Parts: sequence; structure tokens; C-alpha cells
Amino acid sequence: MRNHWQSVRVGLRWSALLWLLLGSPWSLAALTLADARQLLPEATALEPVAAVPGLYRVADAGGAPALLFQTDDFVHIPAYSGSPVNLLVGVSADGLIRGVRVRSHQEPILVIGITDADLQAFVAQLEGKRADDRIRVGAQGRAGYVGIDGLSGATITAMVITRTVTQAAANALAAYREQLPQTPAAPVSDPAAATATGPAAAAVPDWHWSWQQHRLRVIVLAAALVVLLLVLFLQDWLVQHKTFFQRLRVGYLLFTVVFIGWLWHGQLSVVNLLGFARNLAGGFSWDSLLLDPVVFLLWAFVALSILLWGRGVYCGWLCPFGAAQELLSKLSRRLGFAGYMLPQALHERLWAIKYLLLIAICGLALDSMAKAARMAEIEPFKTVFVMHFERPPLYVLFALALLAVTVLNSKFYCKYLCPLGAALSFVTRFRVFDWLRRRVECGHPCQTCANECQIGAIRPTGEIVDNECHYCLECQVTYWDEHRCPPLVRKRRKREVNRAGADTVIASDATAESPPG
Ligand code: SF4
Ligand code: SF4
Repeated sequence: MRNHWQSVRVGLRWSALLWLLLGSPWSLAALTLADARQLLPEATALEPVAAVPGLYRVADAGGAPALLFQTDDFVHIPAYSGSPVNLLVGVSADGLIRGVRVRSHQEPILVIGITDADLQAFVAQLEGKRADDRIRVGAQGRAGYVGIDGLSGATITAMVITRTVTQAAANALAAYREQLPQTPAAPVSDPAAATATGPAAAAVPDWHWSWQQHRLRVIVLAAALVVLLLVLFLQDWLVQHKTFFQRLRVGYLLFTVVFIGWLWHGQLSVVNLLGFARNLAGGFSWDSLLLDPVVFLLWAFVALSILLWGRGVYCGWLCPFGAAQELLSKLSRRLGFAGYMLPQALHERLWAIKYLLLIAICGLALDSMAKAARMAEIEPFKTVFVMHFERPPLYVLFALALLAVTVLNSKFYCKYLCPLGAALSFVTRFRVFDWLRRRVECGHPCQTCANECQIGAIRPTGEIVDNECHYCLECQVTYWDEHRCPPLVRKRRKREVNRAGADTVIASDATAESPPG
């Protein structure tokens, strides 16, 4: 078994290396008059600006001359996928955006959930605005900003597209103006001479804006993460107060499902990891990572907690889909349905499925993020928490089936299918702390915790499999419970017998010593 995991790890490392090698930006095809006419239907001529590669002058019978370019030639802002979105942009002399079309992208949410028409409708909002306007998604009515509507479920992509267009336009216009003294005699080539466009980059960074806009959720989430840290540090004390701990845990899981998942769309995904790898390969950018404060805070916490305690802290407390499954299986057990555990040998072999899925997704991402994103549909997260079940019936049925199966076998999806859980498991072996307590009797012969662990993360031999453990702390509640943990039960009984014996002796002594009535 150990050899098997070693080869899986080696495979993943090679995948990452190949990715780094292959992740370089692609070269762009030259623009044609037909391209120009997509944005400027009355364009009559197109000529490249010799001194600025990728920039074209367009003579337009219907209006002022314009500049035409692809954003990839002027800016590199990684989007959700870790790759930039390439757009065709027409901009006029004074920085007015004349037209925008999406040329290519690797955004998974767009491939799956949002149509091309939605995307074009979104970018069409930029037409008629100035490149140096402070254009922000959702900033309607805010002084100093020009607000546009977002793309539902694709906030990061929408923000990156907006910034890509304005920043690329500012860069293209600046480059164009710089070369003007060398080409003074070109009337059609003079569009940008009259008005200097202020650099869009001078505005507040997008992530800054996003954090300000979501200040309340940042505060609430930060407080919740502090509470979780306290739970982890005080775990030995908390689990000895069983009722309080169990209520606290159910409350936390509800918070995770409702706030992190349903309202804030903070469900992490294996696609985030692919995007991060591409971001690294394409010239790392903090700006893109910081765009969604909830996702950023969660990943930062996951990075910390994985190295200290393992993947279980995220899977057991902060993953909305994991929390939803656990609440459902707790409810079903409360209603008297115990569920079924698979035989141990089969259970351990099925763990491999999630690692194989992860490898397949990483392999596909080397070819195309769109293909990887389709494969990553094994994650029902988008259906449940981003789209709120408003998807084609097949996706909805799949998500509902995974939620229903948790009643039969607790967290079935997490145990056997989740590629994100598999990815997090790899890092778990580097964790620093081992705070889950065990007794010499665990597994020899006691099987109480092993039978109770709903994740099946305790082997019959007694040891906890860290890669699989979800850090729910249920086994720690049992560890301290004098009525459930057999070694403690024996000690308690012995103590009670001794006490009862002592009480009997005292009582008989007292009887013997009492004066006859
Ligand atoms: S295994 Fe996957 S779905 Fe389950 S808790 Fe972990 S990340 Fe969430
Ligand atoms: S019961 Fe113990 S071993 Fe099982 S998942 Fe919870 S903390 Fe991990």
C-alpha cells in the first residue's frame, strides 16, 4: 500500500513540473480587418503600429480613428483559472472604449455555468466607458466610481476582465503616445495624440475595493477562524465537556454551510489549486489571489492549519459540502438510522478513487483548463453553493444523490471521491502537531473509537490515518469519557467498587461503634 501512495505522489510531482514547463503564454495571431469589424463595423483599413507590437491603427468610416489590440499583448492578470482572459479591444483617441470581445479564456465557471452570450453581455457594459474610469463591478452609485453589473457566480472573473481591459487600454495608449514623436506625419495614426489617458492602475487595486466592499464578512469570518483556533488549542478541555462541545460543533457546521457556503460562496475547490499552479507558472500575482477575501482567508487558514494539524481541520470544520453531509448524517443518526460502514479492506481500497480523480484532473489541466473543469464537475460544490441548484437536472440530481448517500454511509463523497480532499491529504504528512490522543488499549483490543469514527479513519490496529482524519474530535470525546472508553470505564468501576467497599466498612464500623439503645 505504501508503495502505491509513493508512486501516486511521484506522479503528481511530475504533473506539477510539466505544468510549470508548459504553462508559458501562447503566441497571439495577427489581427485582421475582419477582427476590427467585429468591434467597429465601418472600419475601412487596418495597419500595425510599427513601434508597438500587437497594436493596430484602424481607419473608421463611421467615426474617429481608433486603436485595436488584444489584451494579452499589453497586460497579464491571472483570472480564476490562473490564466489571463484575452480580449479584443478597440479604443479611441481620448481613451473611450469603443468595443470589447472575448477572444479566449480558460475560466472554468464560464465553460460550465455561464454562456458566451452572458459573457458578451457583461463585456458590452464596458463600451462607451473611458479606459481611465474607475470601473468596478457593483459600484453603481458610489462617488468616484463607474459601476457595472457583475457575472453571477463568477465575481473574480468579472473583476479580472474589467481590470484587464482598462489596464491594457492604458498601457496600449501610453505605448502609442511614446512613439508618436518618431511618426509625426500620420493623420490617421494620430488618434491618441490629443488627450492623454490617465493610468487606470493609479486607482485603488481591485482587491482593495473587494475587501472594503465585503468588510463585514471579512470580520465575521476572521472571528470564526479565531474561534476555530481556540477550539484546536483547547481541544483537550473542550471534549471533556461533551454536551457543550457537541453543540458548539453543530453550531459551527451550520455557520460553515449557511455563511461560508451558501451566502459567501466560499467553498474551496480543486480548481482553485489548478488556478494557483497556473498563477505561479505565469508570473505570480497576489492581486488575483486577493480578489475574493473569503476564499483568500480560507486558503490562508488551510495552509496554516494543514501544516500544524493536517487536512482534517478544513474538511471537518470549514468545508461547506463536508459540513452539510455531516449535519445530514448526524440528523439521520438522531432519527435512529445508523447507516452502514463498508468492510475495512474495501473501504481502504476505495480511498484510491479520489487520488486517481485528482491525477486525472491535473493531467487534463495540462492540456486545457476547460477539460479539467469539466472533470472537476465531480465536485458538486458549484451546483450547491454557487448556483444554488439552478443548473440542468443532471447536475442537481448528482449533487442531491451525494447528499442522500451520506445518510447510508457518512461523508461517502469525502471518503472516496473528493479530489480536493485528496490534494489536501498530500500535505498532511508534513504536519507538525499530533494532538489526537490514543491509549495502549486502542485497537488492542478496544475498537470503540474505530467503530464510532464515521470517516473510518481509525484502523482496527488502533492508529489514526492522518490523511483521512477529518478532525471531528469525536474519538477525543470518547477518549475522555468514563462511560464509553473501556479502560476508563474499568477504572471508574474499580473506583466505585473501592468507594462502595470503603463506605460499607465505614457504615459497619459506625454500626459497631454506636451504643446499644
Ligand atoms: S473531502 Fe472534500 S467535500 Fe469532504 S470535507 Fe474535505 S474538501 Fe470538503
Ligand atoms: S473520530 Fe477521530 S479519527 Fe475519526 S475523523 Fe474524528 S478525529 Fe479523526
